[in-house]
Amino acid sequence: MTGLYIHIPFCRKKCLYCHFASGIPYDEERASHYIDLLLHEARLYQEAHGPLAFHTLYLGGGTPSLLSPSLLSRLLEGISSLFTLETRERTIEVNPEDVTKANLSLWKSLGFDRLSLGFQSLQPELLRFLSRPLFDADKTYTMAKEAGFSRLSVDFIVGIPQLDVFSLLSWIEKHRPPHLSLYLLSCEEGSTIAGLAKRGTFQTPDPDFQAQQYLDLAMKLSRFYEWYEISNFSLGKENRAIHNSLYWAYEPYIGLGIGASGFLSWQSFRYTNTVNLLLYEEAIKANRFPYGFQETIDTKTAMMEKLMLGLRTSNGIALNTIREWIGNKEESLLFTTIQSLSSYCSIDQQKLILTPKGRLVANTIITEIWRTIEKILGENI
Ligand code: SF4
Repeated sequence: MTGLYIHIPFCRKKCLYCHFASGIPYDEERASHYIDLLLHEARLYQEAHGPLAFHTLYLGGGTPSLLSPSLLSRLLEGISSLFTLETRERTIEVNPEDVTKANLSLWKSLGFDRLSLGFQSLQPELLRFLSRPLFDADKTYTMAKEAGFSRLSVDFIVGIPQLDVFSLLSWIEKHRPPHLSLYLLSCEEGSTIAGLAKRGTFQTPDPDFQAQQYLDLAMKLSRFYEWYEISNFSLGKENRAIHNSLYWAYEPYIGLGIGASGFLSWQSFRYTNTVNLLLYEEAIKANRFPYGFQETIDTKTAMMEKLMLGLRTSNGIALNTIREWIGNKEESLLFTTIQSLSSYCSIDQQKLILTPKGRLVANTIITEIWRTIEKILGENI
């Protein structure tokens, strides 16, 4: 399968915690020009790679739900004329304030079958703190459901001392969204909150507290949900995010728009577009790909990425895959490492997986396992 991601960087205003390529004020003319650039970029891929077929489409941002009906229709028509869209899933990220009857029927008419609802919080005081508009979560969710969107996903930010965990869980139990994404509040470089933390006007939540709150929530949700990826929960396998699962399964995807990433597996090539709108425009107008970063993936990097991405998910990574890399001569070294990390990872049905506790410190554990694999590989790679 191959995925297509399109980045829409416009927002009503920049949220406190956001570090994405986003927050550009929406203006119909500016957005229309950006759609032209996106379609031009899509044409560059069509010219370079021939007729491409995509199995998933993901419109993310930013706030794609801000796009007017005419711009969104023009984007979809343009993309459909350049590529074959044999989509098994079409997702659009939606901010709650854009959930109206008119928009819901527009998104449906354009073939979107999955809405990713950016609720972030149910608590007015937290929404104010995060600089997000207030909204009625029951009404918004019900409207989307009644409009016929059965594959709804809801995003929440957690890891906040003031989070009312009980109310959040009650809301989730009441509505049982088929898919949930839970993210920890973080102070990433480039966000307003990181600036506040540096100046000492915001106290960054204690990481141990955050990990514990996340784990408690995840364990409670696991009564109904499958915790199938570090930040994602689904009601059964059929509600897993197909597009995002492509990333974790090391399948190819193309990203269009500022800050978008792509992985052309057939060329072992990975890229991230520039986040600078002016540089993006300059490159596109000169018929150049607007890469801000690019790399050719060698065999060793591919192994490391497969390990890292696989271990993020409940599928883990097959022991046979690791054996293909290292041979079975020195696998005892690998098993010694796994044994020493037994609270954080385990072997289940011939697969290496992270335990719930391991998922909260995934980067550290994956690095430890990768170091052992590298040691075994030695100079042989
Ligand atoms: S969190 Fe979403 S709405 Fe807020 S600035 Fe970032 S992309 Fe825009």
